[in-house]
Amino acid sequence: MSKVVLITGASRGIGRATARLLGARGWTVGVNYQHNEPAAAETAAQVGRAGGHARVLHGDVASEADVIAMFDALEHAYGRVDALVNNAGIVAPSSTLAEMSAERLKRMFDVNVYGAFLCAREAARRMSKDRGGEGGAIVNVSSAASRLGSPGEYVDYAASKGAIDTLTIGLAKELGPQGVRVNAVRPGLIDTEIHASGGRPDRAAVLGAQTPLGRPGSADEVAEAIVWLLSDAASYVTGALIDVSGGR
Ligand code: NAP
Repeated sequence: MSKVVLITGASRGIGRATARLLGARGWTVGVNYQHNEPAAAETAAQVGRAGGHARVLHGDVASEADVIAMFDALEHAYGRVDALVNNAGIVAPSSTLAEMSAERLKRMFDVNVYGAFLCAREAARRMSKDRGGEGGAIVNVSSAASRLGSPGEYVDYAASKGAIDTLTIGLAKELGPQGVRVNAVRPGLIDTEIHASGGRPDRAAVLGAQTPLGRPGSADEVAEAIVWLLSDAASYVTGALIDVSGGR
């Protein structure tokens, strides 16, 4: 039977690359998006061409009702949810903390922290063996920013990813006895549209050249780590924070 995964923020970037790779491994993929429906449809088409099955799911991860509805839709359609890739995330224009508005801070933590927690909670409720689930795996998409702090750029974003690291460590211990592995990847400078949304489309290319490997990473390179963590090949790995950052 095909395994079923929800990938939040799968319409573009790292989420799309992960969806495509899981499709190639025969998974059924819930492709979540917030605004960009055509991009989500294109991801679903790519999953299908790769050999998997996809279902497009609209929802804001910062909305409890949307998150519950996405998990319900997958369970209703396929009878199970085996995995979550907690990937949806935002940045904001470079700024010092002193210049940040309260609205910006609230949205950053609503999406990157509250949203990730809501998704992880729903996965825990549905996959835990004590609750009738069959176990599973969660991969949280953190960032190298959690250990770098991103001064002068976005300490809010970096701190939101620090929360994701801590969630990963604690939830791995909480859910290990429930048959659920919980890990994180911490990407470095990856060539996606997220940098343009922070006002610096060339950020990955410029700063990536200064990393030990001398280039930015690709979404496909991050997807490889995520898919490995979800797979049975990583059956004894839980609570790990895996840097995919070119040595940065
Ligand atoms: P991206 O290309 O900007 O794509 C972001 C995705 O998240 C899109 O699919 C977007 O959906 C979705 N999204 C945003 N807010 C959402 C919300 N509230 N609810 C549901 N979906 C939402 O980003 P990316 O670079 O692939 O980043 C993916 C993850 O990797 C993020 O958590 C990011 O922090 C992390 N990361 C990225 C880098 C990097 O250099 N790229 C480095 C470290 C960590 P729409 O298309 O509908 O807008």
